[in-house]
Order: sequence, then structure tokens, then C-alpha cells
Amino acid sequence: MEYISKALGEINEKNREQPEFLQAVKEVLESVSPALERYPEFRKAKVVERLAEPDRVIIFRVPWVDRNGEVQVNRGFRVQFSNAIGPYKGGLRFHPSVNLGIIKFLGFEQIFKNALTTLPIGGGKGGADFDPKGKTDIDIMNFCHSFMRELRRHIGENIDVPAGDIGVGSKEIGYLYGYYKKISGEHTGVLTGKSPEWGGSFIRPEATGYGLVYFVAEMLAARGIDLKGKTVAVSGAGNVAQYAAEKAMQLGARVITLCDSEATIVDEGGIDSDKLEFVKELKNIRRGRIKEYADRFPASCIIGRSVWEAVREGGIKVDVALPCATQNEITSEDASALVKNGCVCVGEGANMPSTPEAIAVFKENNILYGPGKAANAGGVAVSALEMAQNSMRLTWSREKVNRRLIEIMKEIHRSILSAAREYDLKGDYASGANIAGFVKVARAMVSQGVV
Ligand code: NDP
Repeated sequence: MEYISKALGEINEKNREQPEFLQAVKEVLESVSPALERYPEFRKAKVVERLAEPDRVIIFRVPWVDRNGEVQVNRGFRVQFSNAIGPYKGGLRFHPSVNLGIIKFLGFEQIFKNALTTLPIGGGKGGADFDPKGKTDIDIMNFCHSFMRELRRHIGENIDVPAGDIGVGSKEIGYLYGYYKKISGEHTGVLTGKSPEWGGSFIRPEATGYGLVYFVAEMLAARGIDLKGKTVAVSGAGNVAQYAAEKAMQLGARVITLCDSEATIVDEGGIDSDKLEFVKELKNIRRGRIKEYADRFPASCIIGRSVWEAVREGGIKVDVALPCATQNEITSEDASALVKNGCVCVGEGANMPSTPEAIAVFKENNILYGPGKAANAGGVAVSALEMAQNSMRLTWSREKVNRRLIEIMKEIHRSILSAAREYDLKGDYASGANIAGFVKVARAMVSQGVV
């Protein structure tokens, strides 16, 4: 569509130094052209051009004093992308690779993901180029306090509600929240991912991984396939990977891989609950390396290889692939090897873990491909449930939140397939998710005028 090519050309021109952001924008815009054909009012209101430009970008200095008394300086970001359907909502990432392009790609994706959850939340994202590896608790606390000293000016329970992402788990949320509370004198739902003991929601730590597996089970069921007995490869060893592995195991699958940025472990015997407890303790408490798994249990450890390279080079048979580490981790070669080795379904726990070329391989081979903005939306959905509980001053039970999560993942699956049917996209989950999310946000923008 000429309109999309022109818009993409202008967006490319303005954001040349941000390849991940341009990749995310291209992926969404190319698939929403049928909706732009159908609704000329979206084109007239310049919805596409407006969505590609964040409401605001905040970049700030984060000075802090480390455990040796030395002053350190990092760069902090918050990109408030769109509040068309609710307060800005999206996680904070602490990783040395963080830059404006990465935060913008994540914030842009978040707009449509949040629209799919059925809940009233807009899109945003933030973080810092801080590397939590090798840092002590004191370092992390000092960093988080300094980060919040600036961020607090820009957030609020009805304005912008950050949460965790890579490098930001319950410990960091605790330090960030503690400082916000001290400075503002308020105990409010300004962050999600809090501990249930002081305002958090049950199931929030589990929500992204559990939701991913609920979504994958729905995709498989749509083709009459049961997850039980299937061999599953999971990448990552952090929050999303741990709970994706846990739920897949609970539903009877055999999970055989995990990785971190240093190594991949392949456990053909299958990871069980005791082994997973070891990984949780290793990664969440000791902050150790995944290679220790192979010292403790019979498993192979491949240093310097991603899960997908290990699967490809080892010719390992996998039925279901759950990338839960980082962006662009599955290349087209990895995707072709997965297809060749019998993979029928890919569910993205991470954001944008498959390159555009890998996605093309999945589509060409009719693989069930669940894009991150749908498959990993369970995390932000339960964050929105945490916001609801905070507003009501109530705590829902684990069972209630889990039930709501299952319903939401089913509803996301249903709405994507319904959009795919409406636009004759033959079960294309990626385009269905983009269209369903985009149309909801675009309608809100048109209703609210040019703001
Ligand atoms: P964590 O920091 O808890 O874990 C990330 C894991 O991925 C770690 O094991 C890390 O290894 C590994 N990893 C990171 N970069 C690489 C790399 N380049 N190569 C190999 N492994 C790598 O993060 P989360 O589990 O929270 O997030 C994982 C993904 O899920 C991200 O894409 C995030 O945006 C997405 N996501 C997270 C949500 C959440 O609720 N947490 C919600 C929705 C999406 P190491 O230990 O060496 O650092």
C-alpha cells in the first residue's frame, strides 16, 4: 500500500539510528494495511504517523555511589508512547545494551500488546544501561534509588505505571517502590510487580510465563494438538523462562533446554520441579550462571551458543519452541532447523525474539507462530489486575488471579483469530494480533481528536 510505504519512508528517515524500533514499526505497519484500507478515517487522522512518534521521551542522568564509594553514571530512559486507552504502562529494563532505539521498540510493541489484553492500559517502556551483573545489593539499591529520584517526576498511578523487565525483578521493584514512597509520602499503585505482602498481586511473577503457555495450549488446541507429551525448548533462565518451563511441565510437556547469555544447557531427561527449583535459586538468589546446572545434573552445556544454535547444531527434535530471553535471538537458519526437526509451534515469551526472516520461515511452513505482543501479554495483563486491586484496596486470591489470566489469554487468542478471519488472513496470528490491537487504539485516537 502506497500510504504505508510513504509513512515508513518518513519514519525511517527520522529514526535512522534505531534499527530495533524501525524493525518493530515495519512489522506492525505492513500487516495493518487492510485495516487502513477499510477505515479511511484512520488515514485522515494520521493515526500511523502519530503512533510512530511517542508522546514524550525522557532521558536522564543516573548518578550513584557504588560499594567502594566511587561515583558511577548511567543513562536512564522513559518513553511514554501512547495513553489513548489508559495510563502509560510497560516495564523497566536494566541491561548494558539499553539505548533509545531498544526502549522505543519495546514501547511501541507495548501499545498494541496492552490493547489486546482487554484492559484499559496505554503503552510505555523505560530502563537504563545499568548492568546488574556482578553488582552487590547495596549497588543495586543505590542505583534504583537514584533512578527513581528522577523517574518519580514523570510517573503516577493514573499517569504512567512502570513494572519489571530484563534485569528488573522483585528486588529492584522493592527498592524503586521504597524510594518513591519515601519521597512522595504515598502508598499507591505507581509500580506493579510489588510483593503481595505490600500491595502486589498474586501470580504477577508467574504471569508472563504461565500466560505464554496458556496461549500456546490454545493455539495447539485450535489444531487439535495437546501440549501433553510434547518436547519443549525454552530459552532464557530468568523470570519468563522459569515460569514458562514450570507451566509447560505442569501441563505434561518435557522441557529440555534453558540458557543465559553465556551458555545453553540441554537436559534430554527433562527438567523437573526439583531441577527448576535449583535454577530459581541459582538465578534469582545467587545470581549464578546456568552452566552450573550441568555440574549438578546430567545435561550437556554448550558455552557461547544460544538455545536455537544448540538445537540446530545438535539436530535436536523439538515440538514447541518458547523463546524467552531477548530480541532477535532466532535467526532464519535457526527457524529452518526448527521446522526441519519437527517443530509445530513457536510461542514468543520474549519481545521480538524472532528476526523478520525467521518469522517468514515460520509462516511459509504453516507453523503456529504466536507473536510476543499476544503470547507474552499475560504479564502486563496481571499488572493491570494489580492496578485494579490497588485502586480497590483489595487482594484477590491466587486462584482468582490465575482464573482471570486464563480467561484473558483465551480472549486474546479468540480476538486474534476473529481479526484474522475478518480480514481473510487464514489463521495468521501475527497479522491478526497487529490488526486487533491497532484497530482498538486507532478508534480511541479518532474518538479523542487530534491530541
Ligand atoms: P530476566 O532478566 O529475568 O531474564 C532474562 C534471561 O535471558 C536471563 O537468563 C538472561 O541471561 C537471558 N538473556 C538476556 N540476554 C540474552 C542474550 N543476548 N542471549 C542469551 N540469553 C540472554 O528477564 P525476563 O525473563 O523478565 O525477560 C525476558 C524477555 O521477556 C524479554 O524480552 C522481556 O522484554 C520479555 N518480557 C518480560 C516480561 C516480564 O513480565 N518480565 C513481560 C513480557 C515480556 P543472563 O542471566 O546471562 O543475563
